[in-house]
Amino acid sequence: MTGSASPTPVVCCDLDGVIWRGDEPIPAAIEGVTELCAAGVRVGFVSNNSSQPIADVVAKLERCGIDADGDDVVTSALAAAALLRDGLAPGSRVLACAGPGVVQALLEVGLEPVDRPPAAAVVVGFHRNFDFDELDRASSAIRDGARFVAANLDATYPVPGGLMPGSGAIAAAVATASGRSPEVAGKPEPPMVALVRERFGNNGIVVGDRPSSDGALAAALGWPFALVLTGVSAAIAPPGGEAIPDPPPPYVGEDLGALVPSLLAALAART
Ligand SMILES: [Mg+2]
Repeated sequence: MTGSASPTPVVCCDLDGVIWRGDEPIPAAIEGVTELCAAGVRVGFVSNNSSQPIADVVAKLERCGIDADGDDVVTSALAAAALLRDGLAPGSRVLACAGPGVVQALLEVGLEPVDRPPAAAVVVGFHRNFDFDELDRASSAIRDGARFVAANLDATYPVPGGLMPGSGAIAAAVATASGRSPEVAGKPEPPMVALVRERFGNNGIVVGDRPSSDGALAAALGWPFALVLTGVSAAIAPPGGEAIPDPPPPYVGEDLGALVPSLLAALAART
């Protein structure tokens, strides 16, 4: 039901650090999603990771045992594409310093993804093959006047055994070389807030592992925030991660599964 607000209460789950770490699913989270769905709650997935097309995210969820479809998934690639769709002429060249998720999202809104200048805009997102030549092309296009959009500014993503650099680390390199600061599309910025409202309605809870993006998204939506400790946050902030805020958010759990009873009670109280 893309584009229509749903009356069904929704739990909007972040993916990296909530549902999986890298390619490893978090079993308690998978069970938690199953329990929420069985209780009649809509579960949506709202990720700042722009690297994969929506169909690939859905396939990964299905491999984890979660039955989802494309309408259930929103990424910062969609938010970046929506931001540029509203600001550029159809068919404009957009340099994708990002993964296939951004390329697909740009195509779907009628923009032309390219990998070198000239370009009307540059979108920077997480991808593993970022290198010096790409930094050179992206920063050069921005110095020549292209709009600079970052999918998000997340410093890191959790992977088995630790953290890896996130979209924010790549955006910082492009910002340094271009001398410009990016517009940010993903959580917790307005393009993503608008997408979440459009897709999932007005009655929900955000579950995430990163207070600065997931918690701030919840605040922007006026929804409660549930923090899980399966990702980048801990009582004492790990390097590249975040501390549990003081005061803490209303719900804090070791994992999504542990939070299910609280989430169901909270949604019942809001209906
Ligand atoms: Mg996360």
